[in-house]
Amino acid sequence: MTGTTEDFDAIVVGAGPAGCAAAYRMSMAGLSVVLIERGETPGSKNLSGGVLYSAVLNELIPGFYETAPVERPITRHTTTFLTKEASCSLDYRSAGLGAPPYNAFSVLRAKFDEWFAGVAEQAGAFVMPGIRVDEPVVENGAVVGVRAGDDVLRAPVVVAADGANSFLAQAAGLRPRNAPKDVALGVKAIIRLPRHTIENRFGLVGDEGAACSFDGEVTAGMMGGGFLYTNIDSLSVGLVVRLDDLIESGAKASQLLADFLDHPLVQPLLRDGELAEYGAHLVPESGSAMTHRLFTDGMVVAGDAAGFAINSGLVVRGMDLAIGSGVCAADAIIQAKTLGDFSAHSLSAYQDRLEDGFVLKDLHTYARAPHFLDRHQLYSTYPEFLTQLLHGIFATDGTPRQHLVTVARRAMNDSGLRMSALMGDAVAAGRSL
Ligand SMILES: Cc1cc2nc3c(=O)[nH]c(=O)nc-3n(C[C@H](O)[C@H](O)[C@H](O)COP(=O)(O)OP(=O)(O)OC[C@H]3O[C@@H](n4cnc5c(N)ncnc54)[C@H](O)[C@@H]3O)c2cc1C
Repeated sequence: MTGTTEDFDAIVVGAGPAGCAAAYRMSMAGLSVVLIERGETPGSKNLSGGVLYSAVLNELIPGFYETAPVERPITRHTTTFLTKEASCSLDYRSAGLGAPPYNAFSVLRAKFDEWFAGVAEQAGAFVMPGIRVDEPVVENGAVVGVRAGDDVLRAPVVVAADGANSFLAQAAGLRPRNAPKDVALGVKAIIRLPRHTIENRFGLVGDEGAACSFDGEVTAGMMGGGFLYTNIDSLSVGLVVRLDDLIESGAKASQLLADFLDHPLVQPLLRDGELAEYGAHLVPESGSAMTHRLFTDGMVVAGDAAGFAINSGLVVRGMDLAIGSGVCAADAIIQAKTLGDFSAHSLSAYQDRLEDGFVLKDLHTYARAPHFLDRHQLYSTYPEFLTQLLHGIFATDGTPRQHLVTVARRAMNDSGLRMSALMGDAVAAGRSL
């Protein structure tokens, strides 16, 4: 594939949620689109498992969940603070979340991405799996295509949807290499269990699913947290830890994950499960996106490649932001095609659309989250305080009971929590999360 004329109206690199959404939207508008993916099949390079917050996909493809390989609609969200031997949880359940149009689904990416790329293909996109793009082709300062090995594909615009390390965006001068403070390392395992075991252990009825997050002991005091999501007949379980913390501590993510899976309060949830898959991947930290340029002559950057992910300590979101940005990229390109102008000036409509919609608004809302979550007491002192407080309330040892305020004061003393720190953290949490 070589040439000097244009082969397509648009080239999309990366068949993750961002690239598939962009390719689908542009194909539906009648543009000729190629979607290039380095994995042998879309999804094969993507770490399996996650919770897809689905409103944006339902807007793009109404009723998508009727044909998509989603696992379970999430009707239960729990947040658990862990110490070495105790835990304290917030448990939110709502049957309403389990009815159309649904709020979120657990998905396995190998199946989900393949489905999404298939939908883009049905809409007219030319899907090319098993091809690794090496670099953008730049002429007179504008991106005019991509090179893969000896082959060159040309189009007036390229969508860089190639994930958290996006070398395409780097090569086009839109962003620097990731610094350790701008990314977290996610390690994840898929544990197979019979579906009735999952439903019994998590108190689920039928297809319902649970999304559980864990803070505290799980990251050995480092910034990050654990998660456990129920699929139909497997659990996605893992940790996300900020890379600079991990490097500084010398800890191994694989050992942290092993310790998490062995934790006395987590292990019973996984008992008799069979390890089916294991992997690691980078996640952009909320806030890093604010520093990246999102477009240049002939190129826009979407999804993780642009740093669009949110880790609020309670939820990890990236897939819906990827889809939302893929749609905005597509709409800006459709407009640019009508104008016959793919300059940076014309493609700046991409940024306008992101700002008008939820993607950049949500990223702005959580821009201070990494700074707030950098407080190490969140992962040690608070779980200790909460579990000691609840121990003081529920445990009896034959001595006379004390009022709640005395129990709370003792828990604060024992955990080393100071009132001034508590107030400061509460205000900061309110402003950051
Ligand atoms: C452990 C972990 C847990 C997570 N949990 C959640 C969650 O619960 N909910 C949520 O919403 N998000 C979650 N995320 C984040 C989410 O996975 C990402 O934000 C999302 O996948 C971003 O989509 P994307 O399309 O931008 O990039 P990706 O999904 O990374 O897709 C990029 C694609 O580009 C391809 N590619 C890369 N380079 C090239 C190249 N040179 N040539 C051709 N193809 C290329 C890759 O193979 C890949 O298929 C999690 C991430 C991790 C690591």
